[in-house]
Amino acid sequence: DLVSCYRTDGIGLSAPQVGVNVQLMVFNPAGVKGEGEEIVLVNPVVYKFSKRLSVYEEGCLSFPGIYANVLRPDTVKIDAQDASGAKIKVKLSELSARVFQHEFDHLQGILFFD
Ligand SMILES: [Zn+2]
Repeated sequence: DLVSCYRTDGIGLSAPQVGVNVQLMVFNPAGVKGEGEEIVLVNPVVYKFSKRLSVYEEGCLSFPGIYANVLRPDTVKIDAQDASGAKIKVKLSELSARVFQHEFDHLQGILFFD
């Protein structure tokens, strides 16, 4: 859950990481319980990636102590459902876009060092 995620300095988690095989992720770029906003995305589909890319050092709760520089688009536009099942469109940038893409990869079975 996100509590153990916070305890280990995490900012995001995908369902497959905790043995739940559904297309769901939750993240909070603030990384501190009670701060920022927890974003829940169910069945996310990316419909637009920005052309502009940047490199950022990523880590992963599933692989403590391993970090790697990963090149990713700066912004993403997403169709998804929220926790109540309502359809939503979300545009993410900066750290939110970074965390989303890392978690989205988990949903596809891709790990950041791939
Ligand atoms: Zn991860």
